[in-house]
Amino acid sequence: MNWVEVSIEVDGEAAEAVADIFQRYGHQGVAIEQAGFPIEVWPDEVPPADKLIVRAYFPENNEAEAAKQTLREALWYMSRLYPMPEPTFRIVNDEDWANAWKAHYHPLRLGKRLYIRPEWTHPTDMKPDDIVLIMDPGMAFGTGTHPTTQLCLISIEEMLADWPYAEVLDLGCGSGILGIAAIKLGARHVLGVDIDELAVKSTLENAGYNDVLESITAQQGSLETVRASGQQYDLLLANILARVITGMCDEGLGDVVRPGGKAVFSGIILDQADDVEAALRRTGLEPTRRRTITDWVAIEAIKPIA
Ligand code: SAH
Repeated sequence: MNWVEVSIEVDGEAAEAVADIFQRYGHQGVAIEQAGFPIEVWPDEVPPADKLIVRAYFPENNEAEAAKQTLREALWYMSRLYPMPEPTFRIVNDEDWANAWKAHYHPLRLGKRLYIRPEWTHPTDMKPDDIVLIMDPGMAFGTGTHPTTQLCLISIEEMLADWPYAEVLDLGCGSGILGIAAIKLGARHVLGVDIDELAVKSTLENAGYNDVLESITAQQGSLETVRASGQQYDLLLANILARVITGMCDEGLGDVVRPGGKAVFSGIILDQADDVEAALRRTGLEPTRRRTITDWVAIEAIKPIA
């Protein structure tokens, strides 16, 4: 199946109006992206007001020419209000679409020793004491390029440096990147849990690439699945939206951490951090440290021994 992609680069003011037009004529929703092709965009992320790309797709069938013409006309009328360039049309097939991001995903170093290498790359600049993570997230979140993931990886590396054999819970595991890093940094076992079945598949696939399948269990579910097991963990990792973390705190998130255990929460924008910390305290966790990259915050916490 081929698709026609229509895209146009506009400033922030015009983006919403263009998105409305695309919504009417395009199919499958409309994406507003920051110019420059971000590989991963966090759902709560607010792109800067200037230079946005509005993108939509419609099927390449015998109505495609008419749809293009209608879009051109609607945008032409709009350009009299907001000056903007002509739209760009491009044919993409399903496979190109699913793989487009790969061209922008390159090996990267993080923390002291972490080296993330996309599964299909063969870098030659690895050092002997690098801890290599081999990743192909597919449709799941977790390439390691997003600040929310990076903050967690930096925390995990530091925390596990003098803490071997930890039992880890990776809640919202996505590609499995955090759990896989934890194992390679000395954790004993990781349970990865995600509401998305594709994430479970991706976690297991990536565990395979990294040869840590025997140390990782992945299952579809959420906090209630873990609570039902009665299990408590030495280290909880949760890179999920701030509002999801806060909601979980009010459903007993603290219970899955053993007394004396630790936790890392990420996916938090600076102005949400106070609320998340208050929620953590309500569930018996004590925030100990914030780390930041730009406007992103990760919060480390401990569960005090009663
Ligand atoms: N841990 C990865 C992925 C983070 S993206 C990383 O750090 O890069 C957040 C993940 O949380 C997504 O895979 C999403 O499917 C999952 N998620 C969202 N809400 C959830 C919930 N209520 N319970 C469990 N997982 C959830």
